[in-house]
Amino acid sequence: MSIQVFGTPVSRGVAIGRAVLVASSRVDVAHYFVPTERIDSEIERLRVARDAVSTELSTLKRDLPPEAPTELSALLDVHLMLLHDESLTGATKQWIVERHYNAEWALSAQLEVLARQFDEMDDEYLRERKADVEQVAERLLRFLARAKPGQAVPAGAEVPRARDFGGEEPLVLVANDVAPADMIQFKRSVFTGFVTDVGGRTSHTAIVARSLDIPAVVGAREASRLIRQDDWLVIDGDAGVVIVNPSPIVLEEYRFRQRQSELERARLNRLRHTPAVTLDGQAVELLANIELPGDAAVALEAGAVGVGLFRSEFLFMNRGGDLPGEDEQFVAYRDAVVAMQGLPVTIRTVDIGADKPLDRMSLQELRHEHALNPALGLRAIRWSLSEPDMFRQQLRAILRASAYGNVRILIPMVAHMGEIRLTLDALARARQQLDDAGCSYGQVQVGAMIEVPAAALAVGRFLDHFDFVSVGTNDLIQYTLAIDRSDDAVSHLFDPWHPAVLRLIADTISQAHARGKGVSVCGEMAGDAAFTDLLLAMGLRSFSMHPARIAAIKQRVLRVDTRRLAAGLPAVLSAEDPALEAARLFAPVLSAPSAA
Ligand code: PEP
Ligand code: MG
Repeated sequence: MSIQVFGTPVSRGVAIGRAVLVASSRVDVAHYFVPTERIDSEIERLRVARDAVSTELSTLKRDLPPEAPTELSALLDVHLMLLHDESLTGATKQWIVERHYNAEWALSAQLEVLARQFDEMDDEYLRERKADVEQVAERLLRFLARAKPGQAVPAGAEVPRARDFGGEEPLVLVANDVAPADMIQFKRSVFTGFVTDVGGRTSHTAIVARSLDIPAVVGAREASRLIRQDDWLVIDGDAGVVIVNPSPIVLEEYRFRQRQSELERARLNRLRHTPAVTLDGQAVELLANIELPGDAAVALEAGAVGVGLFRSEFLFMNRGGDLPGEDEQFVAYRDAVVAMQGLPVTIRTVDIGADKPLDRMSLQELRHEHALNPALGLRAIRWSLSEPDMFRQQLRAILRASAYGNVRILIPMVAHMGEIRLTLDALARARQQLDDAGCSYGQVQVGAMIEVPAAALAVGRFLDHFDFVSVGTNDLIQYTLAIDRSDDAVSHLFDPWHPAVLRLIADTISQAHARGKGVSVCGEMAGDAAFTDLLLAMGLRSFSMHPARIAAIKQRVLRVDTRRLAAGLPAVLSAEDPALEAARLFAPVLSAPSAA
């Protein structure tokens, strides 16, 4: 039976594929295809893991102290029995043979199947055995991870696809929640779409999904409960709908739409190296947002004229507290700078906290176990200033990378003059330390992100201390409207068109211009063509976005006359419904040079 699940669209397009259900706690399990010639050795890996876990459990049982409760010994027997049960390791083998899944993926796929079966059992005692199967599988997964680290496809190598093995394509990931750091590992993954139960439009998980440029729906509430392993799914990333086991007619309709959007994409791609200049001759800078140094090549390929936001925190996440040292960071920043071939690279100092914890945590854990409201807590520059050694290390690493190209430093979530003073002091000390050590570095501009209302309202003062500002609209909207950007329960209230938000953005841009300082927008609004006219009308000439959005925004830029847009701005800003007024005033296109 076909059903539909509704959520929040976060990344456009249509994906059609088989569901791969992954428990949130196991999203980091390696997912890759095993070539035919390695199937036997993959099964051998699984067998070795099973034998090792069997020995581990038997030893545990043998070494139980005499005073240990008798249930413990019985429990270990149950675990041993489950370990050798065909429904676990036997069926896992089948996933490897038939689907070419690697052992970890095959095991977690089978675990999802078994978990469903247990959930549906009437007998409470039997239902509770699910936890035992999960514990046994966790032991196996831990052994596999230890025994064969780095088994995944090496960086730079082609990711084998299911079709290479005659398998059905493509695959769509379905999970309750995916942490941003886990999402990033899917940059080179086998999945062609994502569905998650939780998350808002501008949560960091959604942002990374968008940067992967594959259709995604978040906040689909019950999706991971309603969807079964291997179900056929259509993800409509434009409407935010997931169709489970679609009828042949619906499937054909979506296949048609998929082909259309591929054609549109190819058409837009031709604009890659066309300069972004409006009809009235205004040059517009289209920069890229990146998460990892390897993304710089993608940015160049997409026609970016620089990096407007390098979210450096992704270098710090999921490392079990083992943060990258100065040299490791320096190499990462230098690689991005060198890859951009002299174009500007804006490196944001670490923005950890809120929905980007250092280590993997579900949003629920974050909220309930750590801070009541992490978005208002020790985040971004607040965190950096609370870790002065780490902060200076990062500043030194960035400064050292500036010897290799054009580097700018961007400070996230500045709200207070005191933070500015401390930041600039830390930078001066970092420079002094490099001078003392005889290390070279280049000229570096320093900018602040304007992403809390306090910063937008005090931007005139802030600009006395900074060379440029970059408006982080994702957080500016979150903090202006008091809407948690990662909470799907309030995502319908997240409104970039709110008059207060528009006023703060417009004022920031005009204040920067009045002082002759650079201003850019690097939040998701910059990459959304629905806001291009509005931002151009406000005088913005520098936009930073996911590389995949550059061509579409450029197409819009090429078609507009900024004088006409600017003339309509006062009416939009004072309108009861700015979105409606903007649609009325801005939508008409004067002439249409296009990629066609
Ligand atoms: C923003 O807040 O708009 C921004 C670009 O920063 P991030 O999304 O990483 O918080
Ligand atoms: Mg932000």
